[in-house]
Amino acid sequence: MNAPAHLAHVAPEIAPRPVPQALLDALAARFGAQCSTAMAVRTQHGRDESSYTDVPPPAAVVFAESTQDVADAVKLAAEHAVPVIPYGVGSSLEGHLLAVQGGISIDVSRMNRVLSVNADDLTVTVQPGVTRKQLNDEIKSTGLFFPIDPGADASIGGMTATRASGTNAVRYGTMRENVLALEVVTAGGEAIRTGTRAKKSSAGYDLTRLIVGSEGTLGVVTEITLRLYPLPEAVSAAICSFPSIEAAVRTVIQTIQLGVPIARVELIDANTVRMVNAHSKLGLREEPMLLMEFHGSPAGVKEQAETVQEIAAEHGGNAFEWATTPEERTRLWTARHNAYFAAIQSRPGCRAISTDTCVPISRLADCLLDSVAEADASGIPYFLVGHVGDGNFHFGYLIDPEDPAERAKAEELNHTLVARAIALEGTCTGEHGVGLHKMGFLLDEAGAGAVDMMRTIKRALDPKNIMNPGKIFSL
Ligand SMILES: Cc1cc2nc3c(=O)[nH]c(=O)nc-3n(C[C@H](O)[C@H](O)[C@H](O)COP(=O)(O)OP(=O)(O)OC[C@H]3O[C@@H](n4cnc5c(N)ncnc54)[C@H](O)[C@@H]3O)c2cc1C
Repeated sequence: MNAPAHLAHVAPEIAPRPVPQALLDALAARFGAQCSTAMAVRTQHGRDESSYTDVPPPAAVVFAESTQDVADAVKLAAEHAVPVIPYGVGSSLEGHLLAVQGGISIDVSRMNRVLSVNADDLTVTVQPGVTRKQLNDEIKSTGLFFPIDPGADASIGGMTATRASGTNAVRYGTMRENVLALEVVTAGGEAIRTGTRAKKSSAGYDLTRLIVGSEGTLGVVTEITLRLYPLPEAVSAAICSFPSIEAAVRTVIQTIQLGVPIARVELIDANTVRMVNAHSKLGLREEPMLLMEFHGSPAGVKEQAETVQEIAAEHGGNAFEWATTPEERTRLWTARHNAYFAAIQSRPGCRAISTDTCVPISRLADCLLDSVAEADASGIPYFLVGHVGDGNFHFGYLIDPEDPAERAKAEELNHTLVARAIALEGTCTGEHGVGLHKMGFLLDEAGAGAVDMMRTIKRALDPKNIMNPGKIFSL
């Protein structure tokens, strides 16, 4: 099969392998109604929230209900050297789920039990299909919470596989810091365990961290042990508008450099505020804005907020507008989380090409401001949001997917931005992962030697190259 033009940069990966009828028969015999070959189900599992289209879906979808189900499905696929693509809720953004080499999808959304909460140790063990909102609902009565918050209600398995983070990472870290232990079904269909519930360990290679961020290319995660945190005694949220993006960014840089333990600090540009206002009926001032949250004791929260207000005022920021009740806070953060969908709705029929660069905090202004000027000059509608306390921000270029010229222009903007971030000692992806879209950039960022080491690991752990093949790097 020829790669569609918009996938030309990963053309060698687009090579569907035959899925023998014998495998489909064996899956039907083992899984019965838990296995579907209906086109609608396959299509849904062969795409994600990226702008990619036109790739054939997986040949079948297995709805796993246990680790044994996952192990049996992987073993059957391995016998036929057929690819296996783990599936959480499909909210990834970089073409992670496309069945570029054919194969079967293993959907783990039915493995959605919270297995044990150890409140005394601040840990929880879950199945991979538990979503982040479900987890926080189920543990509410313990006085603990799980802070990692990608905008979407993603699965914990998917978040583990993409090394996700989100708005709270500036204070609580990412999945890298918050996954303690895993159960993983390997490419050979064996379930292994990595890590323990202990806070630290020096026991051998850190396989947990190898699997976190491996995007389904090394195994299927079937159990995850996570760190939890006490719900903060006091929480307050505020918004502050600025005369320019630069003023907002300088406020953030100074806040982080002073060591203020702010829990969330999100940049939203004026375009996005307009889109969010239209979508969520908010009436926010249509200027660049920081949306912030402070956690701690009442006195601690007050002190943090006062420090940030002083810094903001130095940069021309307006007075803080406070969201005082939990309902108001939820409304603000829901609007922030809906920014992506607000943007998509602002241009009917469009798809977003998302960027995800992340740079050291001192380089944030250098990286961001030139990119804003380039995006403005391009004429392509865009939104800009960012977990700027981490140095991480996202442009979403809103392209007509049927217009190759627009797609090319957006990719060129993305390319220039990534090159800039890498030159500033940053990364092409702070949290979304590489998938298909950022494969070329990984080579630029990590270098040939490091990518070769990744290939060596992949070949050793997955000799038939069946685990989500054609993603992250080319073999
Ligand atoms: C509106 C919106 C906002 C977003 N904001 C953020 C954000 O702020 N921060 C952020 O990090 N991400 C963000 N994302 C991206 C996305 O939510 C994350 O990448 C998320 O971690 C994907 O989880 P999922 O359950 O949807 O995984 P899927 O999309 O189903 O899968 C993602 C990858 O993980 C693999 N995978 C899934 N489950 C398993 C498993 N059990 N074992 C092994 N591999 C597995 C898949 O094969 C695939 O490669 C956003 C997405 C949207 C649509």
